[in-house]
Amino acid sequence: MIYSFAFHVPVRIIFGPGKLTETGSHAKDLGSKALIVTTGTFFKESGVVDRLQHALSASGVTGEEFSHISPNPLSTEIDAGAKFALSKACDVFIGLGGGSAMDAAKMIAYAVSQKEPIWPSWIGEKPLVNAPLPVIAITTTSGTASHVSPWAVVTNPQTMEKPGNGNDGLFPRVSIVDPELMLSLPKSVTATTTFDVLAHALEGYTSTLANPITDMYCERAMRLVGKWGRVVAKDGSNLEARAQMALADTLVGYSLSVAIVTLAHAIAHCIGGTSGTSHGGALSALTPYAMRFSMNSLPSRFADIGVFLKDEPAGRSGWTPEDSVREVEKFIRDIGAPSSLREQGVQQMDFARIADDTLRVTAGSVGNDARKASREDIMGILRNAF
Ligand code: NAD
Repeated sequence: MIYSFAFHVPVRIIFGPGKLTETGSHAKDLGSKALIVTTGTFFKESGVVDRLQHALSASGVTGEEFSHISPNPLSTEIDAGAKFALSKACDVFIGLGGGSAMDAAKMIAYAVSQKEPIWPSWIGEKPLVNAPLPVIAITTTSGTASHVSPWAVVTNPQTMEKPGNGNDGLFPRVSIVDPELMLSLPKSVTATTTFDVLAHALEGYTSTLANPITDMYCERAMRLVGKWGRVVAKDGSNLEARAQMALADTLVGYSLSVAIVTLAHAIAHCIGGTSGTSHGGALSALTPYAMRFSMNSLPSRFADIGVFLKDEPAGRSGWTPEDSVREVEKFIRDIGAPSSLREQGVQQMDFARIADDTLRVTAGSVGNDARKASREDIMGILRNAF
C-alpha cells in the first residue's frame, strides 16, 4: 500500500510528576501576564493555583485567575473571561484543569486575539484575523487530550448547541502533564474521563482520516487503557496508574488532532449541549451501539479494538467486531462508567433535537465515521443507549 497523508501536531510536552513547577520557565518565553483559567474553586482551595502562581512569579510572570468556567463551558463564560483578560492585559493563557478549563483557555485566547465574541464565530469555518495568543495547557484529568489538540468545545446556553472547533493557532504551545495533579480526581470523573481516552483511541483508529501515524498512537493508547484503566478506576491514588493513563491520553491526542473523532463523539457533544451530562458518561453509554452500527463497514479494524484492549498480540485470529464491542462493554462495567443515557438524566423527548444537531452542528465527525448515519440511524442509537 502507498500512503498519502499529512501530520502536524506542534506541542511541547513536559511530562512527569512535579512538572507543574516548570510552568514559569516556559510561560516567560510566551508572555509576561498570564490568565489562569480554572473550573470553580477546587484548584484554588487545594493550593494548586498558589503553586502555579509561585512557579510563574519565580520566572517573572504575573498570574491573574479566572475561575468562572463550568464543566462543559458556556459561550457567555468565554466572553466574560475574554473581557477580564483584556482588562488585565493578559498575553498568555493557561488552562489549569480538565478539558473544560483547557478548552476555555483556548477559546478565551481566540476571542481576545480576534477581538470578537466566541459566538457565532466558533461555529463553522472562519479565517483568523489575527494570530491567536499563546496557550499553555496543564491537564488535571486523563480524558480529553485537549492538551495536545487544537480543538475546544463550547455550549451556547441559548441555542443549546455544543460545537467543537479549532485551528492550528490554538495548539497549546506547551503542555504540562503532571500526574500528581490527577490524584485528587473523584472516582466518577476518573471513570468517565478514562472512557473518553478509549473513545478517542477507538474512534481515531476507525476514522476515515486515520493514517499510519495516528494508528500507532491509537493502538498504544488502547493497550495502555486496557492495562491501566481498571487499576486507576479502583485506586485513584496509584501514581503509576495515573501516569500511565496520562500517557495514554497524551498519545491519543496526536491522533485526535489529525484523525479527529467519529459518530459516538458527534452524538455525545449534542447530548452535552442539551442535557449537561458529562462528556465521557455520554460516550460510555453510546459507544457500544455506535460501534455495532459501524463495525461491519470496517470489520478488521473493529476486531482489532478488543485485541488491543486486552493487550494481546496484533492480528490474533478468531476475534470478531462483536467480540470487541463486548470487551468495551465489559470495560465500561469494570471501571464503573455509565452504561445508559437514562441514568444520566437524558430525556427521550430531546432525541429528535439531538439527532438534528448531530447532523448539523457536529456533521464533520459524522462524516469521519466508516458508515454514514442518517437521522433515523442516530435516533436508533439513542434509543438503544437510553
Ligand atoms: P472537566 O474539565 O469538565 O472536569 C470535570 C470536573 O472535575 C470539574 O468540576 C473539574 O473542576 C473537576 N476536576 C478536574 N480535574 C480535577 C482534579 N485533578 N481533582 C479534582 N477535581 C478535578 O472534565 P473533562 O472530562 O476533562 O472535560 C470535559 C470537557 O472537555 C467537555 O466540555 C467536553 O466537551 C470537552 N472535550 C474537549 C475535547 C477537545 O478535543 N478539546 C475532547 C473531549 C472533550
